[in-house]
Amino acid sequence: ERDNDKLTTFEKTGIYRFEKSNAVFIDPVRVLNRHYTRFKLSPSAYYSRFFDSANSNSQSVCRKRKRKAKTTSRPLNEKEQLANQRHLEARVFMLKAHEDLLGNNDILEFLRNLRGDEAAEGASVEQSFVELGTVWQAHMYEITLNHCHGDRSNNESQNGGSCRIQSCEPKTFLLFENLVVNETSNDAEAIFLNNKYILPKESSFFMSDLGKIHNLIPADSDRGFNLIVIDPPWENSSARQKLKYQTLPNRFFLSLPIKKLSHTEGALVALWVTNREKLRAFVENELFPKWGVKYMATMYWLKVKADGLLIGDLDLFHHRPYECLLLGYCVKEAVYCDRYFGLKPIPDNQVFISIPGDYSRKPPIGELLKEYAPGFEPRCAELFSREMLAGWSSWGNEPLHFQASSYFK
Ligand code: SAM
Repeated sequence: ERDNDKLTTFEKTGIYRFEKSNAVFIDPVRVLNRHYTRFKLSPSAYYSRFFDSANSNSQSVCRKRKRKAKTTSRPLNEKEQLANQRHLEARVFMLKAHEDLLGNNDILEFLRNLRGDEAAEGASVEQSFVELGTVWQAHMYEITLNHCHGDRSNNESQNGGSCRIQSCEPKTFLLFENLVVNETSNDAEAIFLNNKYILPKESSFFMSDLGKIHNLIPADSDRGFNLIVIDPPWENSSARQKLKYQTLPNRFFLSLPIKKLSHTEGALVALWVTNREKLRAFVENELFPKWGVKYMATMYWLKVKADGLLIGDLDLFHHRPYECLLLGYCVKEAVYCDRYFGLKPIPDNQVFISIPGDYSRKPPIGELLKEYAPGFEPRCAELFSREMLAGWSSWGNEPLHFQASSYFK
């Protein structure tokens, strides 16, 4: 593909592939916009942290200095040495990817121009679904979906307790512990407590605590998922200190019914992890075996700023400018002597680069993973989700969070 064609593809899809390093640059706003028919994401709302940080540079430099001073004070312990080993192996791929980015004037110009986008809007009132879900009247809260451009308005159905929108009429559904589906091929606007939310086409959410996740298990595994992205609220000082969301001890995640959620033909499982060695060991030795997931590959999300530079020093021990995505296959039955026969090999050490959005918000890499999902037609689920995607089922205690209309233009 010529550079010009690649740029055109990037403008349409939000994805730019660097050939030399096999890395990918992602503009989450463009990627997500493909999920909507009438609405567009507001880049300044998506990149709000990045806009804010433009005004607080001096502060972050100070903090960085403090961190640096802390890291040089003692030698690494055994676990830290193992983590460092992993880092040294991964950094080669990340440096190569970053070099490709810095050598690509088209993408650098795109990054520079982001700042020229409309100014960030004032903060709007945010609903705390996590709190609302715990009050005594939670089971009575309702959400009203308005879908006014329906093209599949016949054949309305109520299916297995789920609510489906297929007409132009506003419809009201229970908000919590209920599958709410926008089955139409257009965005739906939803109203809850006078706030507006935008639901992408062909999407659904189930908002509940972990204790109710079994409601997502399909009665028939042919209706199971073959792509499952999971971003658990791992315990870490950062999430807790910043009071961003509740975290859970590792043992809680052992009970996630990944095998039961998987499709008959198996599922590609993509798990976001932190860089702590203890967590990596837990996933490899306990969590993946308990879920029935065979580890296949690791991918890296490298975080950059508008000038194309990394958000922090690549070698700073406790604050790496990257996060890891562990990939594995969950296979149900021994179909062949080798159960993993016929599954597509996943390239190891792939790097995707983007400017981070809100705290802990991951870039939308689902489309990039679809090609490795077993079966012909991807059925996708995101667990511990804070947003919805066209064609996906989102579960968590706040899957509507980033669907608030303030995140859209
Ligand atoms: N992937 C998300 C994104 O890109 O925005 C971030 C997910 S964040 C790491 C973890 C999510 O798990 C938070 O939304 C948090 O509220 C949710 N969570 C925490 N405890 C939970 C529980 N007991 N049941 C369901 N969800 C929970």
